[in-house]
Amino acid sequence: MDADVAIVGAGFTGLWTAYYLAEADPSLRIVVLEAETAGFGASGRNGGWCSALFPASLSTLAGLADRERALAQHRAMRETVDEVVRVAAAEGIDAHIAKGGTIALARSRAQWRRARAEVAEARRWDRGEDDLRLLDRAEATSVLRGSRTVGATYTPDCAALHPARLVRGLAEAVERRGVTIHEQTRVRAIAPGRAHTTDGDVRAATVVRATEGYTPGLRGEERTLVPVYSLIIATEPLPPAVWDEIGLARRETFTDHRHLIVYGQRTADDRLVFGGRGAPYHLGSRIRPEYDRDEAVFARLYATLVDLFPVLAGTRVTHAWGGALGIPRDWCASVGLDRQTGLAWAGGYVGDGVSTTNLAGRTLRDLVLGHDTELTRLPWVGHRSPAWEPEPLRWLGINLGLRAMTLADAEESVTRLPSVVGRIVSPLVH
Ligand SMILES: Cc1cc2nc3c(=O)[nH]c(=O)nc-3n(C[C@H](O)[C@H](O)[C@H](O)COP(=O)(O)OP(=O)(O)OC[C@H]3O[C@@H](n4cnc5c(N)ncnc54)[C@H](O)[C@@H]3O)c2cc1C
Repeated sequence: MDADVAIVGAGFTGLWTAYYLAEADPSLRIVVLEAETAGFGASGRNGGWCSALFPASLSTLAGLADRERALAQHRAMRETVDEVVRVAAAEGIDAHIAKGGTIALARSRAQWRRARAEVAEARRWDRGEDDLRLLDRAEATSVLRGSRTVGATYTPDCAALHPARLVRGLAEAVERRGVTIHEQTRVRAIAPGRAHTTDGDVRAATVVRATEGYTPGLRGEERTLVPVYSLIIATEPLPPAVWDEIGLARRETFTDHRHLIVYGQRTADDRLVFGGRGAPYHLGSRIRPEYDRDEAVFARLYATLVDLFPVLAGTRVTHAWGGALGIPRDWCASVGLDRQTGLAWAGGYVGDGVSTTNLAGRTLRDLVLGHDTELTRLPWVGHRSPAWEPEPLRWLGINLGLRAMTLADAEESVTRLPSVVGRIVSPLVH
């Protein structure tokens, strides 16, 4: 045996798993195998929302278990935000963290209706004002002054952070605990007791798949998750006068209640970082460096940002990038370990992995060590999402879905009423 635990992928999933395992049992021989460099994937290039969001709804989670356990998962997600903040401080990682919560603006009647429905749904789950609340126009604009704001929802459960600083700092913390990270080591396939790399096999009792959007590149995993691109722009640092007009004094992360997700944060050096989906899915789940940049999507993001904050007209964009996140067929992230084969996995976080990977890491620690804990009893543990359709059906379905969401937002921006297209498509993708 070369190792006790071999982890494939040095993003947040792989590194949190290594971190908590090494902490719990320093005698474990843990190796992390990474095709590029630690943090190369989504973990090093995301929007930096460390939130309590989970891609599947509470009803979906209750369907996998029951109401109590669904709520336990939600509580675990809320605690996870604080756990990430705690470990970053304990390990001396300067990840520019500010826990200001998230404000989601409602900027049309249709969005306001969705905002109120979201809060009403939260109450049905006994989630109180301390968890999610509705802000009227005056309260909303005291936090963030976006155009056409009618109100907002606000949750305190989100920290804005610098993802690349966190993931690189975490890699160093993991190495300090005796874990070896092998960079430039691509795994071709995973089998019980083995990870087949381009340079030979690594043998280990437990092999953890932590490859998220890149998973289809592993032999036999072509239909497990699909890579969908999210793209981001960052402005030049903005002067205090502009921030006085925009708000975000506590570095709250922000979005609005449109269909096709957009997300933003004020960085520690006073830039506005703003991202969204909408880039096409590529046939055969292909991932290529050139897909990280799509000038048309960057231009749309800039136009959306200026529409939100007209004061930004003419502001320079200094950085633009993108990356692939992983989507399971049922949009429900999962974590698990098959005791028969020693194969473990975590992923399918859609756009909510910055915190969820930490919960996955602590859960994998308990599973690998054979501990029955509150974490190992959460509904997402052991869940198996169905496989995606074969191509070209997959390509057609995903790109039609993306187009439909864009169409729904365009329709609402004209009518200001809930989109007919959105009502049909939303339940299929959320
Ligand atoms: C642009 C963008 C914005 C996002 N914004 C947010 C956000 O604001 N908040 C949020 O919560 N989530 C966000 N996400 C999602 C979040 O970043 C991911 O869910 C999370 O980082 C997943 O971590 P991971 O470790 O599972 O995967 P990754 O970080 O993708 O890591 C996988 C690693 O595995 C390596 N690898 C892949 N295949 C192999 C192989 N065959 N052999 C060896 N190594 C391999 C890769 O090189 C990579 O380093 C965003 C994602 C993107 C792309």
